[in-house]
Amino acid sequence: MEIEAFVNHEAKTASTITIRGIFSLLMQSVDANDGDKSVISLGLGDPTIYTCFHTADVVQKVVIDTLQSGNFNGYAPTVGLLQTRRAIAEYLSRDLPYKLTSDDVFITSGCTQAIDVSVAMLAHPGTNILLPRPGFPIYDLCAAFRQVEVRHYDLLPERGWEVDLEAIESLADQNTIALVIINPGNPCGNVYSYNHLKKIAETAKKLGTVVIVDEVYGHLAFGSNPFVPMGVFGYDIPIITVGSLSKRWIVPGWRLGWFVTNDPCGTFRKPKVVERIKKYFDILGGPATFIQAAVPRIITETEEGFFRKTLDMLKHSSDVCCKEIQDIPCIFCPHKPDGSITMMVKLNLSLLDDISDDIDFCFKLAKEEAVIVLPGTAVGLKDWLRITFAVDPSALEEAMKRMKAFYKRHAKKW
Ligand SMILES: *Cc1c(COP(=O)(O)O)cnc(C)c1O
Repeated sequence: MEIEAFVNHEAKTASTITIRGIFSLLMQSVDANDGDKSVISLGLGDPTIYTCFHTADVVQKVVIDTLQSGNFNGYAPTVGLLQTRRAIAEYLSRDLPYKLTSDDVFITSGCTQAIDVSVAMLAHPGTNILLPRPGFPIYDLCAAFRQVEVRHYDLLPERGWEVDLEAIESLADQNTIALVIINPGNPCGNVYSYNHLKKIAETAKKLGTVVIVDEVYGHLAFGSNPFVPMGVFGYDIPIITVGSLSKRWIVPGWRLGWFVTNDPCGTFRKPKVVERIKKYFDILGGPATFIQAAVPRIITETEEGFFRKTLDMLKHSSDVCCKEIQDIPCIFCPHKPDGSITMMVKLNLSLLDDISDDIDFCFKLAKEEAVIVLPGTAVGLKDWLRITFAVDPSALEEAMKRMKAFYKRHAKKW
């Protein structure tokens, strides 16, 4: 294919939106403002800019020790160091009714690359993939690059952002390669109950499709539902689990993730499948060896107190966010977040005078108040907003105060 024909095909099939793309446009809009307000970003999901969201000291120390040992300056096997694969298998098996082995685990450059591997391994011409709406745009992009048709199913705000299972049944066909679930959820902050996950597994089984579950926010659950890994249904359906250190350990820049086949029945264990996965990893090369080598100690030596503190902070900041939102009439939160670091709120444009849609709202808010929130359009839901609440509480309160001032300035005069 000519390169231009290929690019045109991309343009027609890909959602050309990326969160980073919109984010940088919003930042430019702030730069154009003539006020002197400091920028507060509730836009990107990287809490490391706030000192209260800092990884555990022991985690940094382990990486330094590992680097200084001088033993990890060489290449690792492209699928990952054996001790790293084994440590992640043991870590994930803690919550499963069967044991994963190191052969089930492949080390990737963050969860992002594990997403790409998942789609690349399953894609072939004429296939389609079921993605949540609202969702995480990287899935749309990966699918478009592999020429896999994207079919969106809705998450239902009035049911705590549960999956619309009926929609899934009507969207799926014999060419469906996978159903993607994000739990705990970005952008909705959902944490699915055991029973809902069970229904998802039953639906996938009926349709004969693989489930790709994104558990990058695994264990970041602070509401009433505990985190249950999808892998508990591994005996019923083939499951690919993707995750990383990025969110739970607050080290998104370390680029350490995993692609895991939760597969006690051996669907992915066929020699041809294993060979194909390994070949693809030969192309990828894997993350830095010394970070990989630090993983076994990172997993065993991080204190429970660190995880508890993170959850307490997220619970607190999500409470602050939801409380302040109640004072801003033009936005409404249909479901308080139970996990992850983001939530969705609905815009009521009928209360606003000169705002045409979510994108207009976000650009004017950035320009006038130096507050960045992501338009819902970026995650597939027009006239909603995605708010990242993993933010220092005082900055969050200030951002909400400015949003309230913004509302007052733009409120419809009756
Ligand atoms: C942040 C995020 C990722 C990417 O994780 P990395 O480890 O930083 O690559 C993947 N999926 C979801 C839903 C995310 O929010």
